Amino acid sequence: MKDKIKTIFTRIKENLIEEIYPSNITCFNCDAELVKPNKYHLCNVCLDKINIIKNCCKKCGEELNDFTNYCLNCKDAKRNFDKVYSVATFDGVAKNIIYKFKYGKSEYMADCIIPFLLEKLSEVNLKEIDLIMAVPLSQERLKERGFNQAKILSDKLSKELGIKSVNLLRRIKNTSTQTALTKLERKQNLLNAFIVEDKQRIKNKNILVIDDIITTGATFDEVAKVLKTKGANKVFGLTFCHTKNNKV
Ligand SMILES: [Zn+2]
Ligand SMILES: [Zn+2]
Repeated sequence: MKDKIKTIFTRIKENLIEEIYPSNITCFNCDAELVKPNKYHLCNVCLDKINIIKNCCKKCGEELNDFTNYCLNCKDAKRNFDKVYSVATFDGVAKNIIYKFKYGKSEYMADCIIPFLLEKLSEVNLKEIDLIMAVPLSQERLKERGFNQAKILSDKLSKELGIKSVNLLRRIKNTSTQTALTKLERKQNLLNAFIVEDKQRIKNKNILVIDDIITTGATFDEVAKVLKTKGANKVFGLTFCHTKNNKV
């Protein structure tokens, strides 16, 4: 009996130690063992290979190499969105994280992205945000991928921030060839791609729209146009990555 109790206590102790100091915590990107666990679930080598955007376009968040205020896409154009915030350039480890998350069916990769998004949100007046929304996928794309990566991010952010995440936007047009298109072609491709399901619920609201990546900003522009046409007040965007633009 005494031995049995001793074994039970030993097992509880081992489980507790494993719970507090897990023995097999590895980097979500490269699988290297983590000496010290961190909120990003990434090792220091991988963290160093994420290029955090500092100097950026004041409208779309694209990284700028000079000290102008706006990128070529925003300089002379009227944007429908108020501002897009982007964490990192779409290269190195950030690119790999997106690929693993989106195409590798690795939903857990969202946990690497969320801490970066939350840090970026320190630049946003969150009291101003009423609703969080994800850029929706078309039905075809959703079936093919099995999940909407932007929706996973917006739901997790909603929990962290205590701001309601809603599905009031629907993509009625499949825009699968978007990556190979120029800015103008993207714009035309996206025309009438989204509809708002319940306009009463977005009336006069300030909305934060989430996506994993932004390229020319054409998607955010169209989403913001539709939301504002249906009564939304301000539309902000937040993405993990921003592509270096040559698609003007
Ligand atoms: Zn790593
Ligand atoms: Zn811009």
